[in-house]
Amino acid sequence: MEKIVTKFGGTSLADANQIRKVRDIVLADPRRKYVVASAPGKRFAEDIKVTDLLLRSYTAANNGEDFEPALQAVQARFQEILNGLELSFPLEEEIAVLRNHLANEPDVDYIASRGEYLNSRILAAFLGFTFVDPAWCISFDENGKLDQKMTMRMMRAALNPLDKVVVAGFYGADMNDKIRTFSRGGSDVTGSLVSLAVGADLYENWTDVSGLLAADPRIIENPRSVRYISYRELRTLSYMGASVLHTDAVLPASEAGIPINIRNTNQPDDPGTMIMRKLPKNVTRQPITGVAGRCGMSVIQVEKVMTSDGAGFSAIMLDMLKRRKIPFEQCLTGIDTITLIIRSSVLDSCRNELLEEIETVLQPDYVGIKDGLSMIAVVGEKGTEASDANIRVLEALAAEGIEMSTINQGAGKLNLLVGVPEDRYTDAIRAIYDIT
Ligand code: ASP
Repeated sequence: MEKIVTKFGGTSLADANQIRKVRDIVLADPRRKYVVASAPGKRFAEDIKVTDLLLRSYTAANNGEDFEPALQAVQARFQEILNGLELSFPLEEEIAVLRNHLANEPDVDYIASRGEYLNSRILAAFLGFTFVDPAWCISFDENGKLDQKMTMRMMRAALNPLDKVVVAGFYGADMNDKIRTFSRGGSDVTGSLVSLAVGADLYENWTDVSGLLAADPRIIENPRSVRYISYRELRTLSYMGASVLHTDAVLPASEAGIPINIRNTNQPDDPGTMIMRKLPKNVTRQPITGVAGRCGMSVIQVEKVMTSDGAGFSAIMLDMLKRRKIPFEQCLTGIDTITLIIRSSVLDSCRNELLEEIETVLQPDYVGIKDGLSMIAVVGEKGTEASDANIRVLEALAAEGIEMSTINQGAGKLNLLVGVPEDRYTDAIRAIYDIT
C-alpha cells in the first residue's frame, strides 16, 4: 500500500476542535500512516503559541525570575485540549518534570521542544497511534547541525517495525542525548525527513491556508493559489519572501522526488498546492507561477574602462565580499561595469571601508552605492520558456512608468529578476500580477 506522511502545523492542532478535524483527516485515508505534529499554535490572532510560552518560561528561569506564570499558561493550554478531547493523560507529572528542569540549569532547546513532545503524545493517544520521540531517531552533530545520514539510518530502524505512528516535530538529539531543535517552523523539516526515511509516496503538509499564493496577499487582494509548482520554483519564491514551508523542508523530500502537498485543515476538500520535481503532463499551467520580492537592497556599481579585457576584475571584487562574509544577491557584469546587489542591512557595517578598498585596489573610473532598491522574482519554469512572458513583464512595468535598475535572467530560464525602486515595489508587483 502507498504511504503518506501527514504533517500538521500549530494552528491545525491549536485546540481540541482542531485536533478532531485532524483525526477525521488522518482516519479518512488508511495510507496516512505517519503523522508529524507541531506544538499548539495560535487559536486567534492575538493568542500566544505554546512554543513562545515555553520560551518565555525559559527566559524567566534563566534570568532568575518567576517562570510559573508562563509554565501555568502552558499547562492550561494542554489541560483545555485534554478536557475537550475527554482524554486522560499524566499532564501534572509532565509539567512537574518541566518545572524541575526550569529550576535547575534550564536548557533552551529542551524547553522549546516540549510543546511538540506533549502535543504529539496527546495526538497519538487520541488517534490510537504509536508515539515516536525524535530524540531517538533525529540526529544532530555537536554544533547543532542535522546529521542526515545518521538520521536516515536511525529513523528507518525506528519506524520500519511500526505501522501507525505520530512523530513529534521540530527536534531531535545529539550524540550526548542533548535535545536540539531546528529553527522556528522546523516541524516541516521533520515531516520531510520522515518522508525520505519511509520512502513516502506523498508528503502532506496541513496548515491553515489552501496552498501557496501566487503573490503576497498584503499587496494583491485575493491572489489565486498555485495548484502545481516545482521544487526549484518554490525555492526561489521562498527565498524571495513567500512563506508557506520552512526552506529546509524541501530538500529531503525533493532528493527522493517525493511530492509535497500543502493542504488546509479547515478546508480539507481544497486540493492545495502540489510541489513536485516534474509537473504532470496533462495540466495547463499559467505562464507565470508566482511573483515575490524583497525590499531593502543596495546596488554597488563599479565602472572601469577595459574591465572586460582584464581577467580577474570580478574575482577581486567578489573576494572583497567573501573576506568580509558579505553574501550578495546578484552580480551582473557588463562591458566595463560590475553591478552587485546586496542586502542593505549586511552592507551597513562595512560600506565605507569596502568603498575605500575598491578605490585603492581596483582604481575604478566610478564607484558608488545606491540604496532603496527592491528585487522582484517572476517565477515560471514553463512560462519563461515562452520568451514573450518575460517581454510582457518588462512591458507591464514600463507601462506603469516604473524604472528598472537591473534586469537579470539566468540561462536556466527559471526566473526573471528585476530591480525597481522601493517606493514603486507594490506598484510593480501589481503590474506583474495583472498579466499572470
Ligand atoms: N513549534 C515550533 C514553532 O512554533 C515549530 C513548528 O511549529 O514547526 O516554531
